[in-house]
Amino acid sequence: MRATLIYGAGDVRVEDAPDPQLHDPTDALVRVLRACICGSDLWPYGSRAPTEQGDRIGHEFLGVVEEVGSDVAGLAAGDVVVAPFVWSDGTCDFCTQGLHTSCRHGGQWARDGVDGGQGEAVRVPQATGTLVKLPVGEDSPLLPSLLTLSDVFCTGHHGVVTARVEKGTSVTVVGDGAVGLSAVLAARRLGAEQIVLMGRHGDRTELGREFGATDVVTERGAEGMEKVRELTGGDGTRAVVECVGTEQSMATALGVVRDGGTVSRLGVSQYTQVPMGFDTLLRNITLTGGAAPARAYIEELLPDVLEGRVEPGRVFDRTVGLDEVPGGYRAMADRDALKVLIRP
Ligand SMILES: [Zn+2]
Repeated sequence: MRATLIYGAGDVRVEDAPDPQLHDPTDALVRVLRACICGSDLWPYGSRAPTEQGDRIGHEFLGVVEEVGSDVAGLAAGDVVVAPFVWSDGTCDFCTQGLHTSCRHGGQWARDGVDGGQGEAVRVPQATGTLVKLPVGEDSPLLPSLLTLSDVFCTGHHGVVTARVEKGTSVTVVGDGAVGLSAVLAARRLGAEQIVLMGRHGDRTELGREFGATDVVTERGAEGMEKVRELTGGDGTRAVVECVGTEQSMATALGVVRDGGTVSRLGVSQYTQVPMGFDTLLRNITLTGGAAPARAYIEELLPDVLEGRVEPGRVFDRTVGLDEVPGGYRAMADRDALKVLIRP
């Protein structure tokens, strides 16, 4: 089969890879119908040291079950399924508590001999716990939106849930990438009243408004913080979802949160320290967030996607075939594309 490998910064190739086969009785084989490139894939694409052999990449996909191991329950060949961005057994203490990202028997795609999602097929470990069956056909127009349940829409939802967004909450979303826009949509879905989106790409903030943002702030740094405070009676918002991952965006998040409020971080952190000194102690700021346990949220979000109440798949603004994946990475890195859908 063909699959995507990353050889180093700026060097993504599509090559022949071994056809996946059942390895453990808990495995399933999935033929990929749709995959995509994640904003988090851009960090290795921007900075990974060169390697001789290349490594598989991709952690968001949905597809059709082709074969299941003898211990797999509830799935059969022909089922259309979505895979969350980590695989998990669904039965350990962490999974039972809804923290599938910490599964004791789980792991990440494209690591330790497990296939990446940006290819023609994937061996799925712990298939019973990992995969969610979708009541749609292989040609459903909902596939792009259903694919966002693999990562971005669940990640945006995780941000607003951990930031304790509920009906009437005011929220600031820092960052207008696919996760930021998904956080806007998720905040709107939970009934947030004022949703301030901080971002400076016009086409993206426009989609953000369609997703439910009530205000857009294009300024960054001190100027941006001032603008958010102006929009919120001087106090900032009760919830802030940080969707970039840089030191500056975290400082902005802490600068626009209302006293007593919560900052949730979703951006893949490129910093190792957060300015949570005496000032934030005095202001009673809570810092939370992290990698979304997407698997825990799929059943809750699925009906709204199936019934068209939300269309998170609108974050995809370009579709490529597998051989065009390197160009897809370039387009996202150059900010020519918001999020690239792959159709193997
Ligand atoms: Zn588990």
